[in-house]
Amino acid sequence: MANDLFNSLMNAPDENGRFGIFGGRFVSETLMPLILELEAEYEHAKTDESFWAEMDDLWKHYVGRPSPLYFADRLTARLGGAKVYMKRDELNHTGAHKINNVLGQLLLARRMGKTRIIAETGAGQHGVATATVCAKFGLKCVVYMGAHDVKRQAPNVFRMKLLGAEVIPVTSGRGTLKDAMNDAMRDWVTNVRDTFYCIGTVAGPHPYPAMVRDFQSIIGKEAREQMLEREGRLPDTLVACIGGGSNAMGLFHPFLNDSEVEIVGVEAGGKGVDDRMQHCASLSGGRPGVLHGNRTYLLQDDDGQILEGFSISAGLDYPGIGPEHAWLHDTGRAKYVYVTDDEALAAFQMCCETEGIIPALEPSHALAHVMKIAPDLPADHLICMNLCGRGDKDIFTVARALGVEMGTVA
Ligand SMILES: *Cc1c(COP(=O)(O)O)cnc(C)c1O
Repeated sequence: MANDLFNSLMNAPDENGRFGIFGGRFVSETLMPLILELEAEYEHAKTDESFWAEMDDLWKHYVGRPSPLYFADRLTARLGGAKVYMKRDELNHTGAHKINNVLGQLLLARRMGKTRIIAETGAGQHGVATATVCAKFGLKCVVYMGAHDVKRQAPNVFRMKLLGAEVIPVTSGRGTLKDAMNDAMRDWVTNVRDTFYCIGTVAGPHPYPAMVRDFQSIIGKEAREQMLEREGRLPDTLVACIGGGSNAMGLFHPFLNDSEVEIVGVEAGGKGVDDRMQHCASLSGGRPGVLHGNRTYLLQDDDGQILEGFSISAGLDYPGIGPEHAWLHDTGRAKYVYVTDDEALAAFQMCCETEGIIPALEPSHALAHVMKIAPDLPADHLICMNLCGRGDKDIFTVARALGVEMGTVA
């Protein structure tokens, strides 16, 4: 691959928010001024030392960063090949990586004088992170959530309410994440003056995909330093799971220019990618289109209607993928694979039993891929996977999948 391609990868997107033919800002005229205002504010904050000093302070004392880079020695011995390291972002306050980004956006909102924060959430993880930081900053928080998801994710709905957020069930469409995104955008246009729209992954119109990536890049920056310290060199392979792609982009971005580092994103293959209704693998099983203000790969039918994805992991069922991933895929810089529900479940159990860590079902997908490749790699091959969330929230799903009835376990 030519050097200028690597440089363009690091410096993307262009001034129109494009990653090659992906990304951009496909929004109504009424939204355009808001997005331009946000972009200007972010460009300013990016080079403002006081902004990053405040971020660093909160990351350290509120979130608990840096998260450890942990050598999974028993898992490595069990797999009998490459050395497996885990970036422990599941140890963050609120139990996942989402708070890295929410803190950045809400600091920005505060600088812009916004007092009301809106967000959309599917599984509820982004909603909980947003409600958390709003409580800490004393900001009003409104979370749009598909009515169907409100029922499926009752514990997260209650968490958001405890944290003082208002949760609005969305009944339009099928009552899931896509419909909640549409309603959040409508709210934003209507309440421009005091409202900030906090997006939970590397999607949405420019500048969101780049901005969310920049906030999540703390994961890759730390992992890079920690691996250099532990092993004296960079990892050979990076592995991360992909819903919208923010934890993956956060790990990958600081390594894009290091051509010797192999980069692998793992999509949710559900029951298998042959059946398009039974998975969430937008790159492996989707086509380019426009959703949520950007052009990217989407799960859609022949008429361009967005399809509802399916995965055992509620946090991976975003019907698209961040535009930067679409570009990394098409340029060949990163490779994208998928693993099925059953494979993720097996990885979940392996992680519990060999490392004493209950992972979320999302990073269990990344681990399942690690379990496939590690045995055939030499003992000095370094894998770094992102353990981006903890599994407390998933034990009920796992019990159901394993046919265990809680209360009868002895
Ligand atoms: C939300 C979530 C994901 C999926 O989002 P990305 O933007 O792809 O990172 C993955 N893992 C966990 C633990 C999550 O909460």
